[in-house]
Amino acid sequence: MWVNCSSTNILFDCGEGAAKQLLRNKLDNNVIDSIVISHFHPDHVSGIFMVLQMFYLQKRKKTLNLYLPEKINEFKNFLDMFYTFTSRFSFKVNFKLTKNVNADHQQIHPIPSDHMQSYAGFVKKHSLPNELLSYSFLISDSGKKILYTSDFLDIKIYDKYLRKLDLIIIDALHTKASDIIKFAEITNARMILNHGLSEELKNSLKTSIKKFEIADEKLEISL
Ligand SMILES: [Zn+2]
Ligand SMILES: [Zn+2]
Repeated sequence: MWVNCSSTNILFDCGEGAAKQLLRNKLDNNVIDSIVISHFHPDHVSGIFMVLQMFYLQKRKKTLNLYLPEKINEFKNFLDMFYTFTSRFSFKVNFKLTKNVNADHQQIHPIPSDHMQSYAGFVKKHSLPNELLSYSFLISDSGKKILYTSDFLDIKIYDKYLRKLDLIIIDALHTKASDIIKFAEITNARMILNHGLSEELKNSLKTSIKKFEIADEKLEISL
């Protein structure tokens, strides 16, 4: 998802096909200032490798801020393994943690999300280094407020934000349909369902008050 606010271009998450979409929408080369990754599921991060390679081939000049939810050093090792040596790029990549995105972009407030908690038992049992970090984002600019949920489990984590929003982009696939429907009961914001719909949600939408819109690759919204 591309967001332009206060003359800054920010990409939230970077799934498969991101490079192609940036090209198609003329957001390639030097346009994007920062890429913010919500969590390390492949559908939210696998496109970053091709995006970095594309910027390299385009001889990008502008410094890129890349915010990762966890494990910055491991991620850098991963890039080296793919022969994507950032020290050879024509542009600088600042690797930072997603939780600190607000320090550079005051419009963005990361909200820790519960999405990865379902792995807690598995990670503990196998003594894995995963930190189970995942984020949603509140984006505030010129008096307008957007919530981008990314993947999440329980709507409760948004309790204190929901009543004051203009737009909510809901990654709807992993959450119970009844919880998605709750958004419509609590908020008057415009609501876009993104990231695929479960069969349960498709059925629920047939009977719910129709306040949801379904995302489309080309959907562009100005607030
Ligand atoms: Zn996920
Ligand atoms: Zn996902």
